[in-house]
Amino acid sequence: MSDNKSEELNKNLAEFRKRVPHAPSDTFCLLPWVHLSTRPNGHMRVCCTANASSVGPTNDKEHGGEVGVLKNADGKPANLNHTDLMSSWNNDYMKNVRKQMLNNKKPPSCIKCYNEEDAGHMSKRFWETEYWSRRVDMEQIIDETSDEGEIPPKIRYLDLRLGSKCNLKCIMCSPHDSSMWVKDWLKLHPTIENESLKETMQWGNKGQIDGASYNWHKKNEAFWEQLYEQIPHMKQLYFAGGEATIIEEHYTLLEEVVRRGYAPQIELRYNSNGLEMPQRLFDLWKLFKRVRFHYSVDSIGEMNDYIRFPSTWDHTVKMFHVLDNTGPNVEVTVACAVQALNIYYLPDFVKWKIEQNFKKINLWPLGAGMINYHFVYHPPHLNVKVLPNWFKQMCAAKFDTFIEWLEENWEKCDGVTESQVRKDEWLHAAYGVRRLKGMISFMNSGDWSRERMPEFIEYIEKMDAIRDTNFRDVFPEMAPLLDWTPEAGDDWDGEFDDRLLKELEDNGFHVNQQELDTDD
Ligand code: SF4
Repeated sequence: MSDNKSEELNKNLAEFRKRVPHAPSDTFCLLPWVHLSTRPNGHMRVCCTANASSVGPTNDKEHGGEVGVLKNADGKPANLNHTDLMSSWNNDYMKNVRKQMLNNKKPPSCIKCYNEEDAGHMSKRFWETEYWSRRVDMEQIIDETSDEGEIPPKIRYLDLRLGSKCNLKCIMCSPHDSSMWVKDWLKLHPTIENESLKETMQWGNKGQIDGASYNWHKKNEAFWEQLYEQIPHMKQLYFAGGEATIIEEHYTLLEEVVRRGYAPQIELRYNSNGLEMPQRLFDLWKLFKRVRFHYSVDSIGEMNDYIRFPSTWDHTVKMFHVLDNTGPNVEVTVACAVQALNIYYLPDFVKWKIEQNFKKINLWPLGAGMINYHFVYHPPHLNVKVLPNWFKQMCAAKFDTFIEWLEENWEKCDGVTESQVRKDEWLHAAYGVRRLKGMISFMNSGDWSRERMPEFIEYIEKMDAIRDTNFRDVFPEMAPLLDWTPEAGDDWDGEFDDRLLKELEDNGFHVNQQELDTDD
């Protein structure tokens, strides 16, 4: 392990011990003790990061192809169409994850979190464990765990993906998570030439493998009965993809929780594109303890329209204002999916957000008054690691300049002044500048360009043809990526061209060429 890596690791372990001083091990996460997550096709998983959104069967053959998805005794995925919720809660897969964590081992399901931490990034494990350790009696929960890893049947936090009905078809998504994607997939998949890309974009048997189906939640009395039995224990219901705001069963569930009198003890949490938000939703929200709404926006202007296709920026901005005027029990943050298409433009997005002076969106300490981020792991050809070295250096230079600007203008971050935050406090916030720096470290922690850039290029060109979009026009700074060849891949001459330099400077960024030359 390099010195840098072990330094990051030690820093992260110290941070984890500070946040969760009573954690029983350094690899511990509270989620397997309080939480279960579903996929739109009814598969159950340890959490959404254990089996990231949009993941089909992965290339990780070593761990059964779908790492993080709960398996039954026959090795097949535990799916709510044929396996019940509560027996899965204590099946061998879940018990093993718990036992491994208590023994200071890293379960394969959770490798994404540990990898992010190695790269200096704050993982979901950190913030979820800290968050839940303040809401449940962690020591008692650990005490109640049997030697086999079994725990009492109490789910406190459920991630519910009620099918794939969605009103957008984001570029990094797929028919696994969005019904809108189906038509594009039918046009795209038969034409893909790159074998690895074809494997990534597969949609085996239209998602109906191992008893899975996107209608698993319909007419599934056993599931709803067990879920309603858990409501008295429930502290958080989390809705994400498809799009909960257009899924009727999501409303039925909220209404039933209200009818049974448990709404005042339950927090609702959403990752949502916010495209359609009827009054009925806001009326229900008022009755719950709290609502945390993570608004999925990835960039500004037509770049966001390209990524979150076919949304329109005017409507996205309109919904920002609707969300900014919601009731006092609603907390709103921006959930930005960091990927190859937007990392270069993130500074512009953060700056735009700060300049809007929103009343309640990402107020300090959330995202240090800026925005929140998570990485796109799948599809791998849109992962930030795919970018060739010369473009990564452009991103890093832009981030450096932006961070300098931020350090001078830190008081403009939302809620910082009102909360009387000190500059050193702001500088050291886990989700602010440190997060931005961690993003660059993560991007640089692997070079996938030779393997994946051909996939990136084929994918973008084919999607442009299917959707009548134009990547080169929308992302002019990234246009040269489409001309990438393996021979030229790493062969960047270290010079920014004049046009790019001018654009950076016009936007208030500056590039210190000398620093770049000496920066290895
Ligand atoms: S360690 Fe990470 S992947 Fe594993 S359960 Fe916790 S948050 Fe999920």
